[in-house]
Amino acid sequence: MASFNLLLLPGDGIGPEVMAEVKKVADALGKAGLGTFETETDLVGGAAYDAHGKAVADSTMQLALSADAVLFGAVGGPKWAKVPYEHRPEAGLLRLRKDLALFANLRPAVCYPALAEASSLKREVIEGLDIMIVRELTGGVYFGEPKEVVTLENGQKRAVDTQVYTTHEIERIARVAFDLAKVRRKKVTSTEKHNVMRSGVLWKEVVTRVGAEEYPDIELEHHLADACGMQLVRWPKQYDVIVCDNLFGDMLSDVAAMLTGSLGMLPSASLGAPDPATGKRKSLYEPVHGSAPDIAGQGLANPIAMIGSFGMALRYSLGLGQAADLVDAAIADVLASGLRTRDIAAKGANAVGTTEMGDAIVAALRKRL
Ligand code: NAD
Repeated sequence: MASFNLLLLPGDGIGPEVMAEVKKVADALGKAGLGTFETETDLVGGAAYDAHGKAVADSTMQLALSADAVLFGAVGGPKWAKVPYEHRPEAGLLRLRKDLALFANLRPAVCYPALAEASSLKREVIEGLDIMIVRELTGGVYFGEPKEVVTLENGQKRAVDTQVYTTHEIERIARVAFDLAKVRRKKVTSTEKHNVMRSGVLWKEVVTRVGAEEYPDIELEHHLADACGMQLVRWPKQYDVIVCDNLFGDMLSDVAAMLTGSLGMLPSASLGAPDPATGKRKSLYEPVHGSAPDIAGQGLANPIAMIGSFGMALRYSLGLGQAADLVDAAIADVLASGLRTRDIAAKGANAVGTTEMGDAIVAALRKRL
């Protein structure tokens, strides 16, 4: 039986509460003979700052670099509002992303039939929705130089951010999108603003070439990023995989996320480049939500985003696609049975807590194993 080494970084607030449910799911899969999941748990964010004076310790980084996958809960909270900027809890996540060179962010937007009513859009628009946003995570305008505010001679200020992309950066994110499309519905939509941005012209050119040369069987279409935003709320089911730069991806993935309801439902993956020797990618899996200090410690958090993130780790890092399908199906079963945490319950309806939801998912999973 294959053995996998997972680093669990629960973090702050509801992070440890939702991570505890992932452990139960991993144990159930292990007991069913799908793999041996060796887990190591360490501190990150405010919890790490309290223990070491740093948002992530060097020893934790070593563990992260050698893990088959890192599972990350959430960081931050009012307790650390005044810590020095370089040690703020988020700095732990940023260092992990940087040192693991995680350039590809995957955000699925899946609408579970049982939750179709919870969307702000009409049922027919989102029922059965299953799209994937692939966002470039380490380049573009958030990192390009110059990045500054200068004071002009007349006393006015001028702020500059620089959008920069190289051929290599576009090629590698395009390949992630095409590879995903291969095992999905074989369609990639590339978004940029080639009508007003030079980087958009290069983006479109490079994605077109990679598609034609390496993925002739995948349909490729190009949408201007603003038009893509409109289409996402008009008829999102036209998409399969959407690939975008860092800035547009930041916005479009949030738009897509809200098509399907609560923050407590949204998983994500961040991947690095494949190792030339082993083909393995460095990876980190985390729910989209934060540490939710308003409900932390009360057992109210929805663990589905965290469990769904573990499902993505099974699929994209551990080569256990079938186990991932079973986890997704167990989540769907539980939702179909009517069980809801407070964030996804109808007003006035009964809601269960974090452990009840986790236990129900494990029970549904066991039935399918
Ligand atoms: P948040 O995602 O923590 O919470 C927003 C709202 O959604 C809250 O009302 C919360 O109760 C609810 N919510 C979030 N996750 C939920 C879940 N699993 N189940 C039920 N309800 C859930 O965002 P915020 O309030 O803007 O930020 C709180 C803290 O988290 C801040 O310190 C922020 O910096 C941090 N944060 C961290 C990350 C991360 O670790 N990646 C991401 C976003 C925010």
